[in-house]
Amino acid sequence: MTSAGSYNSLVATRFACATLALIVMTTKVYASENSVHSHPQTAPAGPMANTRCNNAPPTPYNPSSTELERDKIYSLLAYAVVYKDWQTDNRRGFNIGSVLVDPNQAPDHQLVCWARNSVGVTKNATQHGEVRLLTNYLEIAGVRSAKGLKLYTTLEPCAMCSGMMTLVSLRTSIYGQTDPRFGKVMERLALDSQNLPEGHCPYPRGVQSVAAQVAIRERLDTAYAAAGKPGITSWLAGEAARTLFEQAASELAGYQVQFAENQRVVDRARAFLAKVPSKYTSLPYTRACEEPWVQQEGPFSLKTMSERVKRWVERVFY
Ligand SMILES: [Zn+2]
Repeated sequence: MTSAGSYNSLVATRFACATLALIVMTTKVYASENSVHSHPQTAPAGPMANTRCNNAPPTPYNPSSTELERDKIYSLLAYAVVYKDWQTDNRRGFNIGSVLVDPNQAPDHQLVCWARNSVGVTKNATQHGEVRLLTNYLEIAGVRSAKGLKLYTTLEPCAMCSGMMTLVSLRTSIYGQTDPRFGKVMERLALDSQNLPEGHCPYPRGVQSVAAQVAIRERLDTAYAAAGKPGITSWLAGEAARTLFEQAASELAGYQVQFAENQRVVDRARAFLAKVPSKYTSLPYTRACEEPWVQQEGPFSLKTMSERVKRWVERVFY
């Protein structure tokens, strides 16, 4: 009985050990599988992976003929805003600037605000024209997004500015010079690489990024390429760039509209340019920037006054 009891005890122990080993192995396999599923970078690629994405790419930019002419006028205005405070030593910042437009307003009330690159005077490399323009707009308008607005910038936006445009739901960005090195960011964000190993969905909230259809852009691109593509910001401080920006400012000054309805637009653009200061302006500023609620509600409405009082209280007491 003793030897039989020992034998039974041995069998029971071995069974228990085998069961324990099986449990441990099963747990490891489960944990391993679970970690694969919980790690998006190792998710299987292929057609099935497409079901993970709901990010529609931006619709193609397809303006009417009259809107295309307005694009031209606003692009010329962006060059002229930069030319008005031309930098030869980049003390304020680089010769890059932008204007913000609300295409949902009446044609002569679409201009919202302007800004110029100010990385020099602020000693802050984030102070690109587009960042300053959107920051200032959000501040003076008291809103959190730029949904539906269009931005015209003289140089193709970088990753920082493109990211900001995406996060504030800007509709369209139109640029007046190609940046061969830091450009095509919106296109890179829109890239669907799910079918590649460790690929990704397109980034959400795609923004239309479009090269301005103006002769000055082609001349800038050609002249920059002919110079051997040096650093683009140092090239923009040179005489070749200055001459072309001067041509753009002159073209706006003498612009003859193709469509009569755009006469008010070009008149407004010239009046706007006259109000833009010719020197650095610290944030936030309202000079030459329309307050959107004034455009929508009229200057003496109850909403206008209450918004102004609210902003004044916030600035004084907080
Ligand atoms: Zn930028």
